[in-house]
Parts: sequence; C-alpha cells; structure tokens
Amino acid sequence: MRDENCIFCRIANGEIPSKTLYEDEEFRVILDLQPATRGHALILPKEHHRNLYDLPDETASRVMVLAKRMAVRMKDKLNCHGFNLIQNNGEAAGQTVFHFHLHLIPRYENDGQTLGWKPVESTEGELEEVKDIIIG
Ligand code: 5GP
Ligand code: ZN
Repeated sequence: MRDENCIFCRIANGEIPSKTLYEDEEFRVILDLQPATRGHALILPKEHHRNLYDLPDETASRVMVLAKRMAVRMKDKLNCHGFNLIQNNGEAAGQTVFHFHLHLIPRYENDGQTLGWKPVESTEGELEEVKDIIIG
C-alpha cells in the first residue's frame, strides 16, 4: 500500500533519489536531508503507514531489529559517542512527514543538539491517577 502524494513513499520505493545506507524488500534507510548531527538517518518502511499507531506488529518488531543493526554499524563507522532513536507521532509530537519513520541520530560530545525534555515534578497522586487511566 503506497500513497502517491507521500514523499517518503516515493523515496522509500526509489522514485526519488536519496542517500541510501541500506535497503531490503521492506525498508530503506536514508540520510536525513537536514540532519541534527553528522549521520542522522531515517528508517522508512516501503509500505505507507501514517504513524506508530497504524504500524503492523511484524513491521514494528522488524524496524527495531534494523535500528539496532544500523546503530551498531554507525557507531563503529562514525565513532559517535552516543545514539538517540526518536520517533514522532502527530503534529503535537513534532511529526512533519506523515509516513512512519524512525530517526537514527548519532550523538557526539559537544554536538550542540538539545534533544530531550524538561523534567516536570509530579506527585504520588498524579502518578497513581495516570497509571490507573492507562491500565484501566
Ligand atoms: P519528523 O519531524 O516527521 O519526525 O521528521 C521528518 C524528517 O524528514 C525531518 O528530519 C526532515 O529533515 C526529513 N525530511 C523531510 N523531507 C525530506 C526529504 O525529501 N529527504 C530526506 N532525506 N529527508 C527529508
Ligand atoms: Zn508514505
């Protein structure tokens, strides 16, 4: 299933050229056009799924195995000091391309990036309440 209007469908399936690091029947791994750091890459499934909620279980499990293999290889080749996996779902979470993708971001000491969040204090009651909502 592809969406002809989706840029990542077209890249993943080779209609639009990209700096490809890896390709198999199911995935293409490309360099991000506007990298956060040197080597910032994206895992794209060739099938169109808008986000994590829509991703078939089999694809979800295989994408993590591929992420692990890519991270190990990139760490060795790039000599990076750390590695972030980031995956955005929905505009509120920063998703800008609505075709599931997983960011592979090599990190370097003093790379100047600030990926992360500002920790907010919570109470025992708030944690208990949200736990009950999620598992209820
Ligand atoms: P999101 O914000 O949706 O999680 O990430 C989208 C990512 O795709 C961004 O990091 C952006 O730089 C990258 N991107 C957008 N368009 C293109 C493109 O045409 N080619 C490549 N290689 N990356 C793209
Ligand atoms: Zn797509």
